[in-house]
Amino acid sequence: MREHRYDVLVVGAGPAGLSCATLAARGGARVLLVEKDRRLGGTLHLSGGHLSAGGTSLQRARGIDDDPERHLADIERISNGTGRRDLIDLAVRHAPGVVEWLAAAGMRFDPETPRIVHGHEPYEIPRTVYGVEGGLSVLHVLEVELDEARAAHDLTVWTGTPVTGLLGDGDRVTGAEVYRDGVELAVEADAVVLATGGYGADAELFAERHGVALVTVAARTSTGDGLHLGRSVGAGIQGAGTYLPTFGGMPDPQTPHRANWAERLLLTTERPPREIYVDRAGSRWIAEDEPSIDAKERALTALPDQVFWTVLDEDAVSRAGVVEPPIVLGWGPEDLRRHANVRPGVHAADSLPELAVLAGIDPDGLVASVAAYNEAVASGVDAAFGRTHLPAPIAAPPYYALHNQGIAVVTFDGLDIDDSFAVRDEGGTPIAGLFAIGEVIGAGATCGNSFCSGMLLTPALVFGRLLGRRLGERPADR
Ligand SMILES: Cc1cc2nc3c(=O)[nH]c(=O)nc-3n(C[C@H](O)[C@H](O)[C@H](O)COP(=O)(O)OP(=O)(O)OC[C@H]3O[C@@H](n4cnc5c(N)ncnc54)[C@H](O)[C@@H]3O)c2cc1C
Repeated sequence: MREHRYDVLVVGAGPAGLSCATLAARGGARVLLVEKDRRLGGTLHLSGGHLSAGGTSLQRARGIDDDPERHLADIERISNGTGRRDLIDLAVRHAPGVVEWLAAAGMRFDPETPRIVHGHEPYEIPRTVYGVEGGLSVLHVLEVELDEARAAHDLTVWTGTPVTGLLGDGDRVTGAEVYRDGVELAVEADAVVLATGGYGADAELFAERHGVALVTVAARTSTGDGLHLGRSVGAGIQGAGTYLPTFGGMPDPQTPHRANWAERLLLTTERPPREIYVDRAGSRWIAEDEPSIDAKERALTALPDQVFWTVLDEDAVSRAGVVEPPIVLGWGPEDLRRHANVRPGVHAADSLPELAVLAGIDPDGLVASVAAYNEAVASGVDAAFGRTHLPAPIAAPPYYALHNQGIAVVTFDGLDIDDSFAVRDEGGTPIAGLFAIGEVIGAGATCGNSFCSGMLLTPALVFGRLLGRRLGERPADR
């Protein structure tokens, strides 16, 4: 094993790691950034790039009055106070600075922002902003700054280089083992920063943490390495029980544990549903026109395997994407008919019992649920769930059932850290030399048990910059 020595070793070149490495090098530290992928950016290649901040110049230019206190209050309301208040407070206080920095660096913000985003439980004030290229707009700024730091400071970047283990001396983490060009190297560092992202592509760890099979849109690099590394030195895990899937997506026909983001169910705010949702027993489980996306996602977590079926008839199919918005984004009636009984998870039959058998739903349960729903349509009252949008019975064959699944986008539990980003052990004591930032600390830290718009990417950048700046100070000042 050849030896290498740095002040700071940053593991993972997503938004958190890129920010941290750049700022630490700028401050004067000797920095190594290692990335297992061949390219930099991590989840930014997929991310919507939504950031949120209260009190930015972009808001003021539109006459929007806001501040970090109201941002914090909105997050507390949406998440019912289930996040880490200390970390949320830190994130929202520095969030406007991140937006101003990106604007000053020339990032082109989408002119429709700042806005309220309805894909997640909405804030009360328009404070979500994003670049015209989504996550890539942020990556372009980070890459320019990284290149400048490499040219002017002591910053080395190794891509295609996974970290495979941590090095330690007693209770202290002293570096990491990396695998580079077919050789294992020991890298020693005063500070090791885990910025490896979440574990939304690690089916085994996901099943261990949540007891359900993983169906995901997370980046393929989100393999939970930081959690495995942290646990190997006794790190505690925070955010247990805060996991939330996004509402109903269809598994990809070629790769069933992945979902195609482009084929999602439309939100209630985009299209009042004509269909019903049933579980494996054939029972309805929520008012399908429930406007709160958070309430729908939360109810979905209680279903066996987080699976349900959208059930509708030919009348609804013939309207969807023609005189009404589509049921599945991008699909017209012909798409649905073409996929029926061909694509896994899309079923059609001339009777409800036949449909149930094809889909794997209890036939008696489905027949009873449709009959009860049709009675609710006739009477105008849905006594079972209080649905108020009752446009038509489900009565025109053929009948259709679409398999839907809770989809993982980000993971909510992660390494426990204190408010200086030091990883804590299971007893709450900081592990000397080990830090964590970004999704590896879990979305639950900054979103609680909910999705708060922009509250993954914004904290990744805020915490990356704060920690990088601090680690860049001379060791004596740390
Ligand atoms: C489809 C999608 C849309 C999203 N949209 C938004 C949004 O609009 N707003 C928002 O706030 N959040 C959003 N998110 C979440 C957000 O993008 C991520 O939480 C954020 O990018 C995480 O940043 P990170 O730096 O912690 O990790 P990542 O961006 O995942 O980067 C981690 C990096 O670490 C590397 N790595 C992992 N293990 C190792 C190892 N052993 N050795 C070396 N390198 C390693 C990975 O290859 C990767 O490059 C979205 C996520 C997805 C999947």
